[in-house]
Amino acid sequence: MQTKILLDEEEMPKRWYNVAADLLTPLDPPLHPQTGKPLSPTDLEAIFPKELIRQEMSTERWINIPDEVREILKLWRPTPLFRAHRLEEHLKTPAKIYYKYEGVSPAGSHKPNTAVAQAYFNMKAGIERIATETGAGQWGSALSMATSFFGLACRVYMVRASFDQKPYRKSIMQVWGAECVASPSELTNAGRMILKEHPDTGGSLGIAISEAVEDAATHDNTNYALGSVLNHVLLHQTVEGQELKEQLAIVDDYPDVIYGCVGGGSNFPGMCFPFVPDKLKEKKEIRMVACEPAACPTLTKGIYTYDFGDTAKLTPLLKMYTLGHDFIPPSIHAGGLRYHGDAPLLCNLVHDGVIEAMSFHQNEVFQAAVTFARTEGILPAPESSHAIKPAIDDAIACKKTGEEKTIVISLSGHGHFDLSSYDAYFAGNLVDYEYPEELVKQSLAKIPKF
Ligand SMILES: *Cc1c(COP(=O)(O)O)cnc(C)c1O
Repeated sequence: MQTKILLDEEEMPKRWYNVAADLLTPLDPPLHPQTGKPLSPTDLEAIFPKELIRQEMSTERWINIPDEVREILKLWRPTPLFRAHRLEEHLKTPAKIYYKYEGVSPAGSHKPNTAVAQAYFNMKAGIERIATETGAGQWGSALSMATSFFGLACRVYMVRASFDQKPYRKSIMQVWGAECVASPSELTNAGRMILKEHPDTGGSLGIAISEAVEDAATHDNTNYALGSVLNHVLLHQTVEGQELKEQLAIVDDYPDVIYGCVGGGSNFPGMCFPFVPDKLKEKKEIRMVACEPAACPTLTKGIYTYDFGDTAKLTPLLKMYTLGHDFIPPSIHAGGLRYHGDAPLLCNLVHDGVIEAMSFHQNEVFQAAVTFARTEGILPAPESSHAIKPAIDDAIACKKTGEEKTIVISLSGHGHFDLSSYDAYFAGNLVDYEYPEELVKQSLAKIPKF
């Protein structure tokens, strides 16, 4: 009975897979925030290095991973694929459940896969400092580690609510040499404006992005980095799905369904995009299911349209499912995944029916997480647990049909810094909340028409 399916270091992918080469509908271009015209590569040069802009706009199917990046990824990659024998036994299901575990990275999630690549290309371009935002803190810690590897300075604008709730994420960023400030802050115009109107706000990712982009745009030696949403980020995450395919081939298996959680949409696309050509060209019957919180239901309740990536409307407009750029997540929500939009590449494939989306309430998600921890041992991140919940439901449904379905979970990270959320769950303090459709409409009425 094989439990861990491992690859050798040398079997780590040498190329990133770019799904832009295989879409049914070409991607709608990002638009300039002031003119509404399609963005040119030079528009982005104030905040991104040329190589990342090239990747962002590329439709080449394969892009080589530089050796210097691969050498660092090897510190934790290839990541293990586990067969969840103990969870299967507990559920008494005929289904086969696998999970690919990205929590083995030093920062505890999939985010270093792109953080290392982004820090590398910035260093190569002669950049000395990077500004970024972070929600729950995983991206900020991943980038802090990556920038320390390449000798870059790093400032992280961390959403105030998480800054107060998760002090240890801040501590780990400091160990890796970064400066972490609560957002909104007094350090930027965007931050000062919000604080004037809402002095007690817990902040949001949209606000923190505005601050980091402003910081990068107003310092010559500084670039901006984003941990999700953008095409180049999803590209860097495709090492996951390529490894997954190899690992399943070792045990002569193939997924019937892949579940992954979606915040901005990077771990899940990283896991499933390499399977998209199988579905579209080889007509393989594989389901890919994006899992999101009912409190931030971007793909299931949002509208597919152009919207800003941030609250202050500094970023380009992206064609995506969105809840509106002034969305502020309900503070009762413990489960992470709180961005108002989602990656354009993922949204394109959801809109074209290649990828499905489902949403879940936080109490049922934590219940699934606890079942997982008590059978498999790993304490999953609350975000990742959104993918565990439907996988368990699916496996239970297989008991009726007797189907020996192959279910794969993208286990994007561990929850060691999220124990206060687990405490809140056990204390019965988590409130299930469904974001009202009416608020989505109100917010979207404010999007500019060009
Ligand atoms: C950041 C994060 C997510 C959500 O981000 P995506 O870009 O949607 O992957 C999910 N899980 C973990 C562990 C994270 O750190």
